[in-house]
Amino acid sequence: MVDTRKVGVLGGGQLGRMLIEAANRLNIQVNVLDVDKSPAKQISSHDGHISGSFKDAAAVKKLAESSDVVTVEIEHVDVGMLEEVSSQVAVEPSWKTLKIIKDKYAQKGYLESHGVQVAESIDLEGKGVEGLKEVGSKFGYPYMLKSKTEAYDGRGNFVVKSEGDIEAAQKALGDRPLYAERWADFRMELAVMVVKTKDGVLTFPTVETIHEDSICKLTYAPPRNVSPEITARAQELAKKAIGAFEGKGVFGVEMFLLKDDTLLINEIAPRPHNSGHYTIEACPLSQYDAHLRAILDLPIPESGLRLREPAIMLNILGGQTTDSHVQIAKKALESPNASIHLYGKGDARPGRKMGHLTVTAPTLAAAEKEIQPLIDVVDQQKG
Ligand code: ATP
Ligand code: MG
Ligand code: MG
Repeated sequence: MVDTRKVGVLGGGQLGRMLIEAANRLNIQVNVLDVDKSPAKQISSHDGHISGSFKDAAAVKKLAESSDVVTVEIEHVDVGMLEEVSSQVAVEPSWKTLKIIKDKYAQKGYLESHGVQVAESIDLEGKGVEGLKEVGSKFGYPYMLKSKTEAYDGRGNFVVKSEGDIEAAQKALGDRPLYAERWADFRMELAVMVVKTKDGVLTFPTVETIHEDSICKLTYAPPRNVSPEITARAQELAKKAIGAFEGKGVFGVEMFLLKDDTLLINEIAPRPHNSGHYTIEACPLSQYDAHLRAILDLPIPESGLRLREPAIMLNILGGQTTDSHVQIAKKALESPNASIHLYGKGDARPGRKMGHLTVTAPTLAAAEKEIQPLIDVVDQQKG
């Protein structure tokens, strides 16, 4: 066996599922803590899974007891229990890292204190409507209102376009711990998957991401119309940011490329990330291979993180019907270079991540041509 150690993972969604796809190829056992029949458990048959919530301290403890290394596929977990179990089992990345990153405001402060540029932020906890107005006079409009915690896929963001939006913003997010960010008038969004190993920090190539309504829609590898100088600078910035955190594993680093070519960090994910799905087909090692190897101290030849061929990833989000994702997958079956990933989540709900597909081709232009009819279907579904 390549490795007899058992990996425990908090969360059994699509990221856990794709991590298991990588682990299965190496005969490595992954114990998942999540509800039964979650996407990750569906493809992993053994008696080491734990049934329950990754927010439940007792369940986290049980997972730790049956695993040699514990990791996460989501950062919204019980960090206190991870701290407690870290004296008995390796927790990667460190619970300290998870604790900082799971609070987006704390994360930004931490990055700033390590000399990493982030969007300017103002704390709004306990400040109410008056606080939101003050941000408007300081930052101007629009600005981005964000929940510090439990935020993903834009669920936790509200664009405040004018003072007239404040009431609606307060209604949408008012019961959550809030902060505000200065609007980043970006030319483009970039992302870099970073691998932190026992020996240092490695990166996958820089990619371009397109978000719609605060949720990732497309990833272009390499980015379109970006100089090699900028893609290299993005990789350096991502390395610097992740170098500031403790622990091993892959990290997703989302950035804004401003119109004057300045790079700002948007946010960091302490785990495999949507913007790294393209690596499954486009790189010799995927982000999931890299995560598994990093937390287990297995070799990661740096050239295995290179882009073999240009690639475009398209997210398959739930549309207006329960089978909208199936319609896209069926259309993609006709596309010779499209690799389709459905996550086993059952019926679609609007905006939910149901799957993704990646088209690779000898040139980005060829990939763009092949994927366009699939983007058209996605856009039609959105209406
Ligand atoms: P994820 O699913 O990546 O965790 P999230 O819910 O944490 O997403 P963010 O990454 O904070 O949300 O924001 C989602 C998107 O909203 C960004 O990718 C970007 O397109 C837009 N956005 C976020 N912050 C700003 C900002 N300060 N200025 C302009 N646009 C922003
Ligand atoms: Mg986020
Ligand atoms: Mg994000």
